Amino acid sequence: MAFVITELCRDEKAAVCLDVCPVNCIVRTDTQYVIDPDLCIDCGACELVCPVEAIYFEDDLPYEYQSATLLARNHFRN
Ligand code: SF4
Repeated sequence: MAFVITELCRDEKAAVCLDVCPVNCIVRTDTQYVIDPDLCIDCGACELVCPVEAIYFEDDLPYEYQSATLLARNHFRN
């Protein structure tokens, strides 16, 4: 399990999450920021600071944002 950034990030990209992540597992893509699920330690710090509430714990993702998990996993697939 990991935290996941949804498409709500796309119009914001505030990047505040980068400053608080203790393991530097958040990276920018062409469209939004994404979290490396293999490195995330589930601390929740990014969720608390996101100004558009784009970040969720994977198990708590609303149905309409389920694709965010796949987006992250595909981005970090070797
Ligand atoms: Fe980084 Fe913690 Fe957010 Fe995971 S939950 S991406 S470790 S700040």
